[in-house]
Amino acid sequence: MTTEFKFNTVEESRIDKVNLKELPFGSVFSDHQFQMEFKGGEWQQGVFGPYGDMTLSPAAMGLHYGQAIFEGMKAFRQPDGSVALFRPMENIRRFNKSAERMSMALLDEGLFLNALIELIKLDEQWVPDGSESSLYIRPFMFASEAHVGVRPSDEYRFIIFTCPVGPYYKGNVRVKVETFFTRAAPGGTGYAKAAGNYAASLQPTAMARDEGYDQILWTDAVEHKYIEESGTMNVVFVLNGKLVSPSVGDTVLSGVTRDSVLRLAAYKGYEIEERKVAVAELKAGAESGALTEAFGVGTAATMTPIEAIGFPGVDVALPPVESWKLMPDLAKTLDDLRRGKGEDPFGWRVVI
Ligand SMILES: *Cc1c(COP(=O)(O)O)cnc(C)c1O
Repeated sequence: MTTEFKFNTVEESRIDKVNLKELPFGSVFSDHQFQMEFKGGEWQQGVFGPYGDMTLSPAAMGLHYGQAIFEGMKAFRQPDGSVALFRPMENIRRFNKSAERMSMALLDEGLFLNALIELIKLDEQWVPDGSESSLYIRPFMFASEAHVGVRPSDEYRFIIFTCPVGPYYKGNVRVKVETFFTRAAPGGTGYAKAAGNYAASLQPTAMARDEGYDQILWTDAVEHKYIEESGTMNVVFVLNGKLVSPSVGDTVLSGVTRDSVLRLAAYKGYEIEERKVAVAELKAGAESGALTEAFGVGTAATMTPIEAIGFPGVDVALPPVESWKLMPDLAKTLDDLRRGKGEDPFGWRVVI
């Protein structure tokens, strides 16, 4: 154990009250959390304590002006009983990028990684070993200074808690190409995992649901001519046998899952293209049969097959998901890698 942190661990674990074989997603919490406060211009000592409710001023600036960011990552049980994180530095760096965009305090990357590792060591027994289970990790930060008036807060609270989770089945989804609402605009905050981005997506998504879709296929804010993301996931298409995904940038969040899928695909010899994907091209591909697979990619669900796309005025179904080849192959390759059962050609597993 490092002296960098303070440990105020629980006297009795709650794990006996939990069935790790049947886990809902995101509502079972492990014993401990990590918490660290920023005030007086610096981070105070980080503390591992029991997971639980906290006190907060009603004037905490994050509740009013939205300085709030988060990350989502997973740890996996390995065949030898150890636990591995998957590409944690990607999430840590992205967290700081989000913090920078929201004018929040930055974190030391090494300290962040150490805190993650210590937390998972403390709650090691909470990492489930089911073939579709994992430990979901939620680092987040919000402005905690009690102050009314818009400016960057002088105080922040950084917390990491974890949830043992089972599969996050959404089933196959029908997505609506959104041509009115926007998720992200050039110069905006779309590349950050900023809480407000998600709040703003809820109403358009509810409206799409009322029209019979499950999710939105977001298009660019300027012309609504190019595909950007699918719900809160990145999106990958199989067009003419190639894996095609909209390039990441300030309006398309740079997902770790997307990057991992594309790099593994290239490693396996598939052709990949990261570029602009026009709605018109996608529609033509869907109608001609050139579009054979389409799926969302993100940490929580890993891959979500898109069975039909609602273009303005016309819904087009994709070939039956059972006939798809690339998505299942890539899903298995990535899953085996994360669970220590397959090759790790890029050194992505961090065994703790
Ligand atoms: C988190 C997120 C993703 C997926 O990122 P991963 O690192 O793969 O989990 C994609 N789009 C948005 C908008 C996100 O918030």
